[in-house]
Amino acid sequence: MKTVGLIGGMSWESTVTYYQVINRRVREKMGGLHSARCIVYSLDFAEIAHLQKSGNWDEAASMLCEAAACLRRAGADAIVICTNTMHKVAETVEQESAIPLLHIADATAERIQRSAYQRVGLLGTRYTMEEKFYRDRLREKFDLKVLIPDVADRNTINSIIYDELCNGILDEASLRTFVRIVQQLENDGAQCVILGCTEIGLLLKSSTVSLPLFDTATIHAEAAADWAMAVGED
Ligand code: GLU
Repeated sequence: MKTVGLIGGMSWESTVTYYQVINRRVREKMGGLHSARCIVYSLDFAEIAHLQKSGNWDEAASMLCEAAACLRRAGADAIVICTNTMHKVAETVEQESAIPLLHIADATAERIQRSAYQRVGLLGTRYTMEEKFYRDRLREKFDLKVLIPDVADRNTINSIIYDELCNGILDEASLRTFVRIVQQLENDGAQCVILGCTEIGLLLKSSTVSLPLFDTATIHAEAAADWAMAVGED
């Protein structure tokens, strides 16, 4: 089994999910007492969120590159960035680290393609919903049509993510807001919805809405475990 290097802490609330899902996946597939070989480098999210807000993505990229370099020196065979938003700098991190980076949007889109959906709703931070780095990858590499909520709802979702979910707050009213927004995406023609923020799945579960949900945290973590088990039988 290969070793995966997780760049986490963005926020740590969802890094917990990654650690659980990766280890459960390995136990499921390999049985017995098997668990994942993985290393977690957990950043201080206050520093990252500050750099995001001030548009200082180069500095944020440097922090992630440093984390990736540490993980590689510690024995990681691949890098997993445990957040959608910071995939804005994924290319730089992959180039600098010189080991494979398992991309969150690729793992998710591959899963969606297996279900043959073509029109996907996307929920996440404003960066993820509005900027090119994520939507264009889904469009250009996987031929998916991406629908996003209107600007008022995008702002609301962004606030819920940073003010509540990344602080471990799971609020009933915010859950109702997500359910309403998913319903709106369905009315707009979405066949499924990507939970394109690794914390949304902590609040919004498939049982609460009629559209299929693709939770990036779970899917990405499972893909990382599968990669680790598939690439090396040693
Ligand atoms: N974890 C979130 C995401 O998947 C948001 C936090 C961040 O800005 O990295 O995008």
